[in-house]
Amino acid sequence: MPGEDAVLAIDLALSQASYYTATAGPAPAFAPLQGTASCDVAVVGGGLSGLSAAIELRRRGLDVVLLEAREIGGGASGRNGGQVIHGLACDQAVIESQLGLADARRVWDMSIEALDLLRERIAQHGIACDWQPGYLGVACSPSKGRALSAWADRIESVYGYPLARIGPGEMRQWVDSARFHSAVHDPRSGHLHPLKFTQGLARVATAEGVRIHAGTPVRALSEGATPVLRTDAGELRARQVLLAGNLYLRGIARKLEPRIMPVGTYIGCSEVLDPALAASLIPSGAAVCDTNFVLDYFRPTPDHRLLYGGRVSYSTATPRDLAQSMRRLMLRTFPQLAAHRMEFAWGGFVDITMNRAPDFGRLPAARGAAANVYYLQGFSGHGVAFSGLAGRIVAEAMTGDAGRFDLFARLRHRSFPGGALLRTPALVLAMAWFRMRDLLG
Ligand SMILES: Cc1cc2nc3c(=O)[nH]c(=O)nc-3n(C[C@H](O)[C@H](O)[C@H](O)COP(=O)(O)OP(=O)(O)OC[C@H]3O[C@@H](n4cnc5c(N)ncnc54)[C@H](O)[C@@H]3O)c2cc1C
Repeated sequence: MPGEDAVLAIDLALSQASYYTATAGPAPAFAPLQGTASCDVAVVGGGLSGLSAAIELRRRGLDVVLLEAREIGGGASGRNGGQVIHGLACDQAVIESQLGLADARRVWDMSIEALDLLRERIAQHGIACDWQPGYLGVACSPSKGRALSAWADRIESVYGYPLARIGPGEMRQWVDSARFHSAVHDPRSGHLHPLKFTQGLARVATAEGVRIHAGTPVRALSEGATPVLRTDAGELRARQVLLAGNLYLRGIARKLEPRIMPVGTYIGCSEVLDPALAASLIPSGAAVCDTNFVLDYFRPTPDHRLLYGGRVSYSTATPRDLAQSMRRLMLRTFPQLAAHRMEFAWGGFVDITMNRAPDFGRLPAARGAAANVYYLQGFSGHGVAFSGLAGRIVAEAMTGDAGRFDLFARLRHRSFPGGALLRTPALVLAMAWFRMRDLLG
Protein backbone atom coordinates (compact mmCIF):
# COMPACT_ATOMS: atom_id res chain seq x y z
CA MET A 1 0.00 0.00 0.00
CA PRO A 2 1.53 3.37 -0.96
CA GLY A 3 2.65 5.65 1.88
CA GLU A 4 1.66 9.30 2.30
CA ASP A 5 4.40 10.68 0.01
CA ALA A 6 3.58 8.15 -2.72
CA VAL A 7 -0.12 9.12 -2.61
CA LEU A 8 0.85 12.80 -2.96
CA ALA A 9 3.09 11.90 -5.92
CA ILE A 10 0.22 9.98 -7.58
CA ASP A 11 -2.06 12.95 -6.92
CA LEU A 12 0.38 15.38 -8.51
CA ALA A 13 0.79 13.15 -11.58
CA LEU A 14 -3.01 12.90 -11.90
CA SER A 15 -3.37 16.69 -12.01
CA GLN A 16 -1.09 17.21 -15.01
CA ALA A 17 -3.20 16.48 -18.10
CA SER A 18 -6.46 18.22 -17.32
CA TYR A 19 -8.76 20.05 -19.72
CA TYR A 20 -8.93 22.78 -17.13
CA THR A 21 -5.22 23.65 -17.08
CA ALA A 22 -5.26 23.61 -20.90
CA THR A 23 -8.15 26.09 -21.06
CA ALA A 24 -7.97 28.31 -17.96
CA GLY A 25 -5.66 30.95 -19.43
CA PRO A 26 -2.77 32.51 -17.49
CA ALA A 27 -2.83 31.68 -13.77
CA PRO A 28 -2.41 34.49 -11.24
CA ALA A 29 1.17 34.41 -9.86
CA PHE A 30 1.90 34.49 -6.13
CA ALA A 31 5.41 34.55 -4.64
CA PRO A 32 6.41 32.15 -1.84
CA LEU A 33 6.62 33.43 1.72
CA GLN A 34 10.14 34.64 2.54
CA GLY A 35 11.14 35.60 6.07
CA THR A 36 8.91 36.29 9.05
CA ALA A 37 5.39 37.66 8.84
CA SER A 38 2.39 38.03 11.12
CA CYS A 39 -1.34 38.45 10.67
CA ASP A 40 -4.69 38.04 12.40
CA VAL A 41 -5.61 34.81 10.57
CA ALA A 42 -3.35 32.38 8.69
CA VAL A 43 -5.20 30.19 6.18
CA VAL A 44 -3.51 26.97 5.04
CA GLY A 45 -4.80 25.93 1.60
CA GLY A 46 -5.54 27.78 -1.61
CA GLY A 47 -8.56 25.76 -2.68
CA LEU A 48 -12.20 26.82 -2.67
CA SER A 49 -12.67 26.54 1.10
CA GLY A 50 -9.48 28.41 2.06
CA LEU A 51 -10.05 31.18 -0.50
CA SER A 52 -13.69 31.61 0.45
CA ALA A 53 -12.78 31.85 4.14
CA ALA A 54 -9.98 34.34 3.39
CA ILE A 55 -12.39 36.61 1.48
CA GLU A 56 -15.00 36.44 4.24
CA LEU A 57 -12.46 37.07 7.02
CA ARG A 58 -11.02 40.06 5.16
CA ARG A 59 -14.52 41.50 4.73
CA ARG A 60 -14.89 41.29 8.49
CA GLY A 61 -11.83 43.53 8.82
CA LEU A 62 -9.12 40.97 9.62
CA ASP A 63 -5.59 40.89 8.26
CA VAL A 64 -5.35 37.53 6.42
CA VAL A 65 -2.42 35.61 4.93
CA LEU A 66 -3.09 32.46 2.86
CA LEU A 67 -0.33 29.87 2.29
CA GLU A 68 -0.62 27.35 -0.56
CA ALA A 69 1.87 24.52 -1.04
CA ARG A 70 1.46 24.23 -4.81
CA GLU A 71 -0.36 26.73 -7.03
CA ILE A 72 -3.86 28.12 -6.39
CA GLY A 73 -6.37 25.36 -7.23
CA GLY A 74 -3.58 22.74 -7.28
CA GLY A 75 -5.62 20.40 -5.05
CA ALA A 76 -9.14 19.17 -5.74
CA SER A 77 -10.61 22.61 -6.44
CA GLY A 78 -8.91 23.11 -9.79
CA ARG A 79 -9.62 19.70 -11.28
CA ASN A 80 -13.04 18.42 -10.18
CA GLY A 81 -16.12 17.62 -12.23
CA GLY A 82 -17.36 21.20 -11.85
CA GLN A 83 -20.81 20.05 -10.70
CA VAL A 84 -22.47 22.57 -8.38
CA ILE A 85 -25.17 20.62 -6.55
CA HIS A 86 -27.69 21.11 -3.71
CA GLY A 87 -27.30 19.11 -0.49
CA LEU A 88 -24.28 17.39 1.01
CA ALA A 89 -22.49 14.19 -0.02
CA CYS A 90 -24.40 12.27 2.65
CA ASP A 91 -28.14 11.81 2.66
CA GLN A 92 -30.11 14.17 4.89
CA ALA A 93 -31.06 11.11 7.00
CA VAL A 94 -27.50 11.08 8.36
CA ILE A 95 -27.87 14.70 9.49
CA GLU A 96 -31.37 14.10 10.89
CA SER A 97 -30.18 11.12 12.92
CA GLN A 98 -27.40 13.16 14.53
CA LEU A 99 -28.85 16.67 14.85
CA GLY A 100 -32.63 16.18 14.70
CA LEU A 101 -35.02 17.40 12.02
CA ALA A 102 -35.03 21.11 12.83
CA ASP A 103 -31.25 21.41 12.57
CA ALA A 104 -31.18 19.10 9.53
CA ARG A 105 -33.46 21.65 7.85
CA ARG A 106 -30.98 24.41 8.69
CA VAL A 107 -28.19 22.33 7.14
CA TRP A 108 -30.20 21.72 3.95
CA ASP A 109 -31.02 25.43 3.70
CA MET A 110 -27.32 26.22 4.03
CA SER A 111 -26.60 23.90 1.10
CA ILE A 112 -29.02 26.03 -0.96
CA GLU A 113 -27.44 29.24 0.37
CA ALA A 114 -24.13 27.78 -0.91
CA LEU A 115 -25.58 27.64 -4.45
CA ASP A 116 -26.75 31.25 -4.16
CA LEU A 117 -23.41 32.42 -2.74
CA LEU A 118 -21.51 30.84 -5.62
CA ARG A 119 -23.75 32.47 -8.23
CA GLU A 120 -23.60 35.82 -6.42
CA ARG A 121 -19.80 35.79 -6.38
CA ILE A 122 -19.64 34.97 -10.08
CA ALA A 123 -22.04 37.83 -10.88
CA GLN A 124 -20.69 40.38 -8.42
CA HIS A 125 -17.03 39.95 -9.40
CA GLY A 126 -17.58 39.07 -13.05
CA ILE A 127 -15.71 35.75 -12.68
CA ALA A 128 -15.58 34.22 -16.17
CA CYS A 129 -15.91 30.52 -15.36
CA ASP A 130 -18.39 29.10 -17.90
CA TRP A 131 -21.31 28.97 -15.42
CA GLN A 132 -24.22 26.95 -16.81
CA PRO A 133 -27.40 26.39 -14.73
CA GLY A 134 -29.20 23.05 -14.51
CA TYR A 135 -28.56 19.70 -12.87
CA LEU A 136 -30.09 16.27 -13.49
CA GLY A 137 -29.92 13.45 -10.96
CA VAL A 138 -30.54 10.30 -13.02
CA ALA A 139 -31.57 6.76 -12.02
CA CYS A 140 -30.18 3.75 -13.91
CA SER A 141 -32.98 1.24 -13.19
CA PRO A 142 -36.70 1.18 -12.27
CA SER A 143 -35.89 0.40 -8.64
CA LYS A 144 -33.39 3.26 -8.48
CA GLY A 145 -36.00 5.45 -10.19
CA ARG A 146 -38.50 4.66 -7.43
CA ALA A 147 -35.88 5.44 -4.78
CA LEU A 148 -34.98 8.74 -6.49
CA SER A 149 -38.61 9.75 -6.75
CA ALA A 150 -39.24 8.90 -3.07
CA TRP A 151 -36.15 10.95 -2.14
CA ALA A 152 -37.41 13.93 -4.19
CA ASP A 153 -40.87 13.65 -2.52
CA ARG A 154 -39.22 13.87 0.87
CA ILE A 155 -36.95 16.77 -0.10
CA GLU A 156 -40.04 18.66 -1.28
CA SER A 157 -42.33 17.83 1.62
CA VAL A 158 -39.85 17.95 4.51
CA TYR A 159 -37.29 20.49 3.24
CA GLY A 160 -39.56 22.58 1.01
CA TYR A 161 -37.20 22.37 -1.98
CA PRO A 162 -38.90 21.83 -5.36
CA LEU A 163 -37.45 19.34 -7.85
CA ALA A 164 -38.98 18.59 -11.28
CA ARG A 165 -39.61 14.87 -12.04
CA ILE A 166 -38.70 13.42 -15.44
CA GLY A 167 -40.42 10.12 -16.19
CA PRO A 168 -39.22 7.25 -18.41
CA GLY A 169 -41.22 8.56 -21.42
CA GLU A 170 -39.41 11.93 -21.44
CA MET A 171 -35.94 10.78 -20.41
CA ARG A 172 -34.38 10.75 -23.90
CA GLN A 173 -35.27 14.44 -24.36
CA TRP A 174 -33.02 15.21 -21.41
CA VAL A 175 -30.16 12.73 -21.88
CA ASP A 176 -29.82 10.94 -25.21
CA SER A 177 -28.85 7.61 -23.71
CA ALA A 178 -30.66 4.31 -23.23
CA ARG A 179 -29.03 3.86 -19.80
CA PHE A 180 -31.33 6.00 -17.71
CA HIS A 181 -34.77 5.25 -16.40
CA SER A 182 -35.87 8.59 -14.90
CA ALA A 183 -34.49 11.76 -13.33
CA VAL A 184 -35.01 14.83 -11.20
CA HIS A 185 -34.08 18.27 -12.48
CA ASP A 186 -32.87 21.23 -10.38
CA PRO A 187 -32.52 24.55 -12.22
CA ARG A 188 -30.71 26.19 -9.26
CA SER A 189 -27.74 23.79 -9.37
CA GLY A 190 -25.44 23.72 -12.40
CA HIS A 191 -21.81 23.49 -13.50
CA LEU A 192 -18.70 25.57 -14.13
CA HIS A 193 -14.99 25.49 -15.00
CA PRO A 194 -13.58 24.91 -11.52
CA LEU A 195 -10.03 26.13 -12.16
CA LYS A 196 -11.23 29.42 -13.67
CA PHE A 197 -13.58 29.83 -10.71
CA THR A 198 -10.88 29.07 -8.11
CA GLN A 199 -8.39 31.41 -9.77
CA GLY A 200 -11.14 34.03 -9.95
CA LEU A 201 -11.68 33.78 -6.19
CA ALA A 202 -7.93 34.20 -5.66
CA ARG A 203 -8.04 37.42 -7.70
CA VAL A 204 -10.99 38.64 -5.61
CA ALA A 205 -9.15 37.78 -2.39
CA THR A 206 -6.04 39.68 -3.49
CA ALA A 207 -8.07 42.69 -4.61
CA GLU A 208 -9.65 42.79 -1.16
CA GLY A 209 -6.27 42.72 0.59
CA VAL A 210 -5.60 39.05 1.40
CA ARG A 211 -1.86 38.31 1.09
CA ILE A 212 -1.43 35.03 -0.82
CA HIS A 213 1.80 33.04 -1.02
CA ALA A 214 1.88 29.99 -3.31
CA GLY A 215 4.71 27.45 -3.55
CA THR A 216 4.77 27.61 0.24
CA PRO A 217 4.15 24.26 1.95
CA VAL A 218 3.57 24.61 5.68
CA ARG A 219 5.94 22.10 7.27
CA ALA A 220 4.96 22.49 10.93
CA LEU A 221 2.34 24.09 13.11
CA SER A 222 3.23 25.12 16.67
CA GLU A 223 0.03 25.58 18.62
CA GLY A 224 -0.35 28.01 21.50
CA ALA A 225 -1.64 31.49 22.26
CA THR A 226 0.02 32.72 19.04
CA PRO A 227 0.28 29.76 16.66
CA VAL A 228 3.30 29.68 14.34
CA LEU A 229 3.39 28.10 10.87
CA ARG A 230 6.87 27.12 9.65
CA THR A 231 7.62 27.05 5.93
CA ASP A 232 10.84 26.36 3.97
CA ALA A 233 11.93 30.00 3.86
CA GLY A 234 10.00 31.69 6.61
CA GLU A 235 7.46 31.57 9.39
CA LEU A 236 4.05 33.09 9.92
CA ARG A 237 2.63 34.03 13.33
CA ALA A 238 -1.12 34.46 13.65
CA ARG A 239 -3.78 34.96 16.30
CA GLN A 240 -5.90 32.27 14.65
CA VAL A 241 -5.29 29.56 12.04
CA LEU A 242 -7.62 27.90 9.56
CA LEU A 243 -6.58 24.53 8.15
CA ALA A 244 -8.27 24.10 4.76
CA GLY A 245 -5.77 21.64 3.35
CA ASN A 246 -8.03 18.72 2.40
CA LEU A 247 -5.95 15.51 2.14
CA TYR A 248 -2.68 17.34 1.70
CA LEU A 249 -1.89 18.65 5.19
CA ARG A 250 1.31 16.57 5.32
CA GLY A 251 1.42 15.82 8.99
CA ILE A 252 0.77 19.28 10.41
CA ALA A 253 -2.40 18.13 12.21
CA ARG A 254 -2.12 14.36 12.61
CA LYS A 255 -5.31 14.15 14.70
CA LEU A 256 -7.41 15.06 11.66
CA GLU A 257 -5.98 12.58 9.18
CA PRO A 258 -7.67 9.29 10.22
CA ARG A 259 -11.08 10.99 9.88
CA ILE A 260 -10.75 11.27 6.10
CA MET A 261 -9.75 8.77 3.45
CA PRO A 262 -8.39 9.46 -0.05
CA VAL A 263 -10.57 7.93 -2.76
CA GLY A 264 -9.48 8.31 -6.39
CA THR A 265 -11.96 9.55 -8.96
CA TYR A 266 -11.21 10.20 -12.62
CA ILE A 267 -12.35 12.40 -15.50
CA GLY A 268 -11.96 12.33 -19.26
CA CYS A 269 -12.76 15.10 -21.72
CA SER A 270 -13.55 14.28 -25.33
CA GLU A 271 -12.08 16.00 -28.32
CA VAL A 272 -14.20 18.83 -29.76
CA LEU A 273 -17.41 17.34 -31.19
CA ASP A 274 -19.61 18.53 -33.99
CA PRO A 275 -21.73 21.22 -32.22
CA ALA A 276 -25.03 19.54 -33.21
CA LEU A 277 -23.86 16.15 -31.88
CA ALA A 278 -22.58 17.76 -28.66
CA ALA A 279 -25.89 19.59 -28.14
CA SER A 280 -27.94 16.41 -28.74
CA LEU A 281 -26.35 14.52 -25.83
CA ILE A 282 -27.79 16.68 -23.04
CA PRO A 283 -30.11 19.15 -24.81
CA SER A 284 -30.70 21.32 -21.72
CA GLY A 285 -26.93 21.70 -21.17
CA ALA A 286 -27.29 20.48 -17.56
CA ALA A 287 -24.75 18.65 -15.44
CA VAL A 288 -25.75 14.99 -14.96
CA CYS A 289 -24.93 12.59 -12.15
CA ASP A 290 -26.35 9.11 -11.58
CA THR A 291 -27.46 7.84 -8.19
CA ASN A 292 -25.19 4.76 -8.03
CA PHE A 293 -22.83 4.42 -5.10
CA VAL A 294 -19.93 4.42 -7.57
CA LEU A 295 -21.30 7.13 -9.75
CA ASP A 296 -20.86 8.48 -13.28
CA TYR A 297 -21.03 12.29 -13.66
CA PHE A 298 -20.85 14.18 -16.93
CA ARG A 299 -21.60 17.49 -18.57
CA PRO A 300 -21.06 19.45 -21.77
CA THR A 301 -18.39 22.14 -22.07
CA PRO A 302 -18.91 25.45 -23.90
CA ASP A 303 -16.44 24.40 -26.61
CA HIS A 304 -18.63 21.37 -27.56
CA ARG A 305 -16.89 18.57 -25.69
CA LEU A 306 -18.25 16.01 -23.25
CA LEU A 307 -16.56 15.90 -19.85
CA TYR A 308 -17.13 12.47 -18.29
CA GLY A 309 -16.21 11.48 -14.72
CA GLY A 310 -16.47 8.24 -12.87
CA ARG A 311 -14.61 5.13 -11.71
CA VAL A 312 -13.12 5.07 -8.25
CA SER A 313 -9.94 3.74 -6.78
CA TYR A 314 -10.14 2.83 -3.12
CA SER A 315 -6.58 1.51 -3.25
CA THR A 316 -5.27 4.88 -4.65
CA ALA A 317 -3.83 3.06 -7.72
CA THR A 318 -4.58 4.89 -10.99
CA PRO A 319 -6.53 2.78 -13.54
CA ARG A 320 -4.33 1.52 -16.40
CA ASP A 321 -4.55 3.57 -19.61
CA LEU A 322 -6.77 6.20 -18.02
CA ALA A 323 -7.94 7.89 -21.25
CA GLN A 324 -9.11 4.56 -22.75
CA SER A 325 -10.71 3.53 -19.51
CA MET A 326 -12.70 6.80 -19.32
CA ARG A 327 -13.61 6.50 -23.00
CA ARG A 328 -15.11 3.03 -22.38
CA LEU A 329 -17.19 4.50 -19.57
CA MET A 330 -18.38 7.38 -21.79
CA LEU A 331 -19.31 4.95 -24.61
CA ARG A 332 -21.35 2.82 -22.23
CA THR A 333 -23.60 5.89 -21.83
CA PHE A 334 -23.20 7.46 -25.28
CA PRO A 335 -22.33 4.79 -27.89
CA GLN A 336 -22.94 7.45 -30.56
CA LEU A 337 -19.50 8.88 -29.63
CA ALA A 338 -17.68 5.73 -30.84
CA ALA A 339 -15.71 7.68 -33.45
CA HIS A 340 -14.36 10.12 -30.87
CA ARG A 341 -11.35 10.03 -28.60
CA MET A 342 -10.72 11.37 -25.14
CA GLU A 343 -8.34 14.28 -25.55
CA PHE A 344 -7.70 14.74 -21.83
CA ALA A 345 -7.75 12.38 -18.84
CA TRP A 346 -6.89 13.23 -15.26
CA GLY A 347 -8.08 12.60 -11.72
CA GLY A 348 -7.62 13.28 -8.06
CA PHE A 349 -8.55 12.15 -4.58
CA VAL A 350 -11.68 13.09 -2.71
CA ASP A 351 -11.57 13.39 1.08
CA ILE A 352 -14.37 11.13 2.23
CA THR A 353 -15.46 10.86 5.84
CA MET A 354 -16.95 7.67 7.22
CA ASN A 355 -20.51 9.05 7.12
CA ARG A 356 -19.88 11.40 4.12
CA ALA A 357 -20.87 14.46 6.20
CA PRO A 358 -18.38 17.36 6.20
CA ASP A 359 -15.99 17.53 9.14
CA PHE A 360 -15.59 21.03 10.63
CA GLY A 361 -14.19 21.88 14.03
CA ARG A 362 -11.35 23.24 16.15
CA LEU A 363 -8.20 21.51 17.37
CA PRO A 364 -8.40 21.08 21.17
CA ALA A 365 -6.66 23.89 23.05
CA ALA A 366 -4.53 23.60 26.17
CA ARG A 367 -6.56 23.74 29.37
CA GLY A 368 -7.84 27.27 30.05
CA ALA A 369 -6.85 28.55 26.58
CA ALA A 370 -9.22 29.45 23.76
CA ALA A 371 -9.21 27.12 20.75
CA ASN A 372 -7.66 29.09 17.91
CA VAL A 373 -6.97 26.48 15.20
CA TYR A 374 -10.05 25.75 13.07
CA TYR A 375 -10.41 23.22 10.28
CA LEU A 376 -12.66 22.44 7.31
CA GLN A 377 -12.37 19.04 5.62
CA GLY A 378 -14.32 15.96 4.49
CA PHE A 379 -16.47 17.43 1.73
CA SER A 380 -16.57 13.83 0.42
CA GLY A 381 -16.60 14.70 -3.27
CA HIS A 382 -19.37 17.30 -2.95
CA GLY A 383 -17.51 20.49 -2.13
CA VAL A 384 -17.63 22.77 -5.17
CA ALA A 385 -20.60 24.70 -3.84
CA PHE A 386 -20.55 23.85 -0.14
CA SER A 387 -16.88 24.71 0.47
CA GLY A 388 -17.77 28.33 -0.39
CA LEU A 389 -20.39 28.54 2.33
CA ALA A 390 -18.08 26.63 4.70
CA GLY A 391 -15.61 29.51 4.24
CA ARG A 392 -18.32 31.96 5.27
CA ILE A 393 -19.44 30.04 8.35
CA VAL A 394 -15.91 29.48 9.64
CA ALA A 395 -15.27 33.23 9.18
CA GLU A 396 -18.41 33.90 11.25
CA ALA A 397 -17.08 31.59 13.98
CA MET A 398 -13.60 33.14 13.97
CA THR A 399 -15.16 36.58 14.43
CA GLY A 400 -17.43 35.64 17.31
CA ASP A 401 -20.61 34.17 15.79
CA ALA A 402 -20.12 30.40 15.98
CA GLY A 403 -23.78 29.35 15.74
CA ARG A 404 -23.69 27.86 12.25
CA PHE A 405 -20.16 26.48 12.55
CA ASP A 406 -20.99 24.72 15.81
CA LEU A 407 -23.96 23.02 14.21
CA PHE A 408 -21.47 21.18 11.99
CA ALA A 409 -18.95 20.76 14.79
CA ARG A 410 -21.65 18.75 16.62
CA LEU A 411 -21.64 16.08 13.91
CA ARG A 412 -19.86 12.98 15.15
CA HIS A 413 -17.09 11.57 12.95
CA ARG A 414 -15.37 8.24 13.39
CA SER A 415 -11.82 7.48 12.34
CA PHE A 416 -11.36 4.90 9.60
CA PRO A 417 -10.23 1.63 11.16
CA GLY A 418 -6.73 0.36 10.53
CA GLY A 419 -4.62 3.48 11.05
CA ALA A 420 -2.62 5.22 8.37
CA LEU A 421 -1.62 2.11 6.41
CA LEU A 422 -4.43 -0.39 6.90
CA ARG A 423 -7.49 1.84 6.54
CA THR A 424 -7.26 1.70 2.72
CA PRO A 425 -7.50 -2.11 2.34
CA ALA A 426 -10.45 -2.19 4.77
CA LEU A 427 -12.19 0.36 2.60
CA VAL A 428 -11.45 -1.57 -0.61
CA LEU A 429 -13.40 -4.54 0.78
CA ALA A 430 -16.33 -2.42 1.95
CA MET A 431 -16.58 -0.60 -1.37
CA ALA A 432 -16.46 -3.79 -3.44
CA TRP A 433 -19.69 -4.73 -1.68
CA PHE A 434 -21.38 -1.40 -2.53
CA ARG A 435 -20.22 -1.72 -6.16
CA MET A 436 -21.85 -5.15 -6.35
CA ARG A 437 -25.09 -3.60 -5.06
CA ASP A 438 -24.94 -1.00 -7.88
CA LEU A 439 -24.50 -3.74 -10.49
CA LEU A 440 -27.46 -5.68 -9.14
CA GLY A 441 -29.65 -2.56 -9.65
C1 LIG B 1 -11.54 14.42 -9.53
C2 LIG B 1 -12.50 15.11 -8.60
C3 LIG B 1 -13.79 15.37 -9.02
C4 LIG B 1 -14.66 16.07 -8.17
N1 LIG B 1 -15.89 16.43 -8.66
C5 LIG B 1 -16.70 17.21 -7.89
C6 LIG B 1 -17.91 17.73 -8.43
O1 LIG B 1 -18.21 17.57 -9.63
N2 LIG B 1 -18.73 18.45 -7.60
C7 LIG B 1 -18.40 18.68 -6.29
O2 LIG B 1 -19.18 19.33 -5.57
N3 LIG B 1 -17.22 18.24 -5.77
C8 LIG B 1 -16.36 17.55 -6.54
N4 LIG B 1 -15.15 17.15 -6.04
C9 LIG B 1 -14.78 17.57 -4.67
C10 LIG B 1 -14.35 19.03 -4.61
O3 LIG B 1 -13.39 19.29 -5.62
C11 LIG B 1 -13.75 19.31 -3.23
O4 LIG B 1 -14.72 19.00 -2.25
C12 LIG B 1 -13.33 20.77 -3.02
O5 LIG B 1 -12.57 21.24 -4.10
C13 LIG B 1 -12.54 20.87 -1.72
O6 LIG B 1 -11.94 22.14 -1.66
P1 LIG B 1 -10.84 22.39 -0.55
O7 LIG B 1 -10.48 23.82 -0.65
O8 LIG B 1 -11.32 21.88 0.76
O9 LIG B 1 -9.61 21.45 -0.95
P2 LIG B 1 -8.50 21.61 -2.08
O10 LIG B 1 -9.00 22.24 -3.29
O11 LIG B 1 -7.84 20.27 -2.24
O12 LIG B 1 -7.49 22.64 -1.45
C14 LIG B 1 -6.61 22.31 -0.40
C15 LIG B 1 -5.31 23.04 -0.68
O13 LIG B 1 -4.52 23.06 0.49
C16 LIG B 1 -3.17 22.98 0.10
N5 LIG B 1 -2.42 22.49 1.26
C17 LIG B 1 -2.63 21.36 1.96
N6 LIG B 1 -1.74 21.21 2.92
C18 LIG B 1 -0.92 22.28 2.85
C19 LIG B 1 0.20 22.69 3.61
N7 LIG B 1 0.71 21.93 4.60
N8 LIG B 1 0.78 23.87 3.29
C20 LIG B 1 0.29 24.65 2.31
N9 LIG B 1 -0.78 24.28 1.54
C21 LIG B 1 -1.36 23.11 1.82
C22 LIG B 1 -3.19 22.00 -1.05
O14 LIG B 1 -2.04 22.11 -1.87
C23 LIG B 1 -4.48 22.37 -1.76
O15 LIG B 1 -4.30 23.26 -2.83
C24 LIG B 1 -14.26 16.43 -6.85
C25 LIG B 1 -12.97 16.13 -6.41
C26 LIG B 1 -12.09 15.49 -7.27
C27 LIG B 1 -10.69 15.20 -6.80
